[in-house]
Parts: sequence; structure tokens; C-alpha cells
Amino acid sequence: MITNESITKSDGLLNFLESKSVPGGFQQEIVAGFSLSSMPLKITNHVLNLIDWNDIINDPIRKQFLIFKSEYKKDHPMLKFDSLGEKHIEVSEGILHRYPKSVLFFINRVCPTYCGFCTRSYTVGTDTDILEKHKLSNSFSNRLNSLIKYLKNNKTVMDLIISGGDVSSANIGVLKSVLERILTVDSISSVRLATRGLTFSPEKFNIGSDLYNLLAESVLSFKRERKELSLQCHFNHRNEINETTEKAISNLIDMGLIMRNQSVLLKNINSDTKTVIELIEKLITLKIQPYYVYQMDMVKNAEHFRTTIEEGISIYNDITGLFPGYLTPKFVVDLPNGGGKKNICAYEWADKEKGIFAYKSAISQKAPLFYYYNPQP
Ligand SMILES: *Cc1c(COP(=O)(O)O)cnc(C)c1O
Ligand code: SF4
Repeated sequence: MITNESITKSDGLLNFLESKSVPGGFQQEIVAGFSLSSMPLKITNHVLNLIDWNDIINDPIRKQFLIFKSEYKKDHPMLKFDSLGEKHIEVSEGILHRYPKSVLFFINRVCPTYCGFCTRSYTVGTDTDILEKHKLSNSFSNRLNSLIKYLKNNKTVMDLIISGGDVSSANIGVLKSVLERILTVDSISSVRLATRGLTFSPEKFNIGSDLYNLLAESVLSFKRERKELSLQCHFNHRNEINETTEKAISNLIDMGLIMRNQSVLLKNINSDTKTVIELIEKLITLKIQPYYVYQMDMVKNAEHFRTTIEEGISIYNDITGLFPGYLTPKFVVDLPNGGGKKNICAYEWADKEKGIFAYKSAISQKAPLFYYYNPQP
């Protein structure tokens, strides 16, 4: 039996840190850090054991999830609560329609952990000391009915992303009902399931588990209907993938699931060429397509995670040509205010002194240009 408990209370976390002989000063820094976070404390034993506790300052997993209070920086003055303007594209509760051919559905607001750099920290996870979240008030079955109705009425939509939240944290019956109902929508030809569970709870994907069985059945039922089912995973650093996670990935690849990875470029965590290359190489070996590297969004209390646009472009330039084109991730910035994802290099003009980058959007007429602001020095 594998036990992989989630720690959600500071007492539990302190006990763990004590067991790893983490010096008291660092313990205090970590617990105090959560009081500034837009995300609640939730972390699994599995991921805590991936951290090199002898290098607590630099460890890329510690830096992603156990932030020292002293690492936080002041928010950028142009930062907004819902940075991508998702409230404006919510066609029904928890259903986002930004791109003509894709719809995104929030299956839940629960994740196996809560990333401080999450774009959707405005709604994902429970309230924290500093942030009250947008909640979903309708029942799941009402929201699912609305989704199916919306898709049947909007036949140009061919792609559905089931996210939230996280499919690995969803109730199995709930996930099953979405997958079954979606098969009745002829115009949908691909469904993408978003998860961070492979980093945090790889045991959920063990052969014979409920999630494994549902995915294996669904791969076949989608194939019969000539639809594609894929898993969109989220690894930011090679160290997130140990043997247990590798095993889980190969279980999924063997069942015929297509897998794509999205990373967020995070300051001094994966914001250098060598680290990005190491992750791409690992993903390719595991048959996961390196799909996106995101410029980090301008989200609340996560300023210390952001890199400049120039850093993103420089890494992109360093890696271009090293891998087959289809295995080279796209570097994109999701334009604040709702312009959608855009190639990071494709800005119309920039004031590099002030750190302002202006992009055009093909999918939103809301503004002639959309602006991304570098973190302030
Ligand atoms: C990112 C995103 C998508 C999917 O974008 P792709 O570029 O097709 O992967 C769809 N809807 C919303 C709201 C998104 O943020
Ligand atoms: S797992 Fe994904 S949705 Fe959940 S908090 Fe992290 S980035 Fe956000």
C-alpha cells in the first residue's frame, strides 16, 4: 500500500520540516510565507520528499511550493485580480470561451497542490488570509448540462479543455459523467484533461486505480468515435519527475493517451536554458510533447516568480533548432486583459527601459494593443 498524504495544516508541515532537520529560521520563513499567499497550504508527502533539504535555499521544488516570507515582492501597479479577464469570457458559470474553436470547463476548484503562480488563483482553492475567491454556486450537474447545451449550440467549437482545478482531484463519477456526455457532442473532436497530479500524486495513475481504469476505458470509447483524448500535464522542472512519476506516465502512454506538457517560466527556478533543456529532454524520453512554456501571468502575490519578456525570448532563442520542431515548446505570453496567448517574440513595440511590451490580439477586439509589464527591478 502506498500512502501519500496531503499536508494542509501548518502543524503538519512543521512536523515534517522538523523530521528533515530544517533549521528553525527556515521553518518560520515557510509558515509565515503562507500568510502572504493567495493560495492555501496543501502539499503531498510525495513532493516534499523530492526536495533536497540540504539545499533548501535553491531547491526548485521548495522554491515553487514553500515560499519564504522574505522571497515575496510587492505587486506590480498594473496587476489585476483576474489578470486574464476571464470573467468577461465566462459564457455560463465555470465555462470559458475565449478562442473560437476551444472551450474550457472548470470541473472543480480543487488541485493536488496550490501553485502560488496560478493564473486562476482568483477562483482555484479555498480563501486565504489575503484573498477571497470567486466560487462556483451551481451544482455540478447543472453546470455539466449547461456545458453540453452550449457545445451543441456552438458547433464551431471542436476542442474542450477540462481543467479547473484538476482532473486528478475530481470525483471519479463526476469525471466519468463529463467524458460520457461529451461523446454525445458530434462537433467536439478533441478533449484535453488538465492535471498537476503526476507531480503530486502519481499513485493515482497506478494500474488498476479508479482514475487509471476510467482513462483506459475512455481512450477506447473516444477512439471508437474518432475523437482524441489527451492529458495536459504541468511539469516545470525535471526534478518533479522521479521513478514513481515515470511509471505513472508510462502507464498512461501505454494505454494510448496523448500527453502534452505546459510549463511556466519561473524566476530562478527554471528560468535558464540548461534547466529548460533538461526538462524537454526528459519529456521527450517519456513521450510527452513539450507543448508550451508560458511567460508567467501578472497574478497577485506572485511577483517574485516572474521573469522579464527578454529572459523568455533569450531562452527560446537558445533552444530553437536543438529539437525537432514539433518537440520544441512554444514560448507564449497570455496577454493581460484578455488578448489570448501570443508568441512571446511577436510584440508590436516595446519600451524596454520601462519594461512594457505591446502585442496585437487576433481574437479580442477589446483593445488595439495588449500590454505585458516586466517585473519591476
Ligand atoms: C489556454 C486556453 C485554451 C487553450 O489554448 P491552446 O492554445 O489551444 O492550448 C482555451 N481556453 C482558454 C480560456 C485558455 O486560457
Ligand atoms: S495545479 Fe494548475 S490549476 Fe491548480 S493551482 Fe497549480 S497551476 Fe493552478
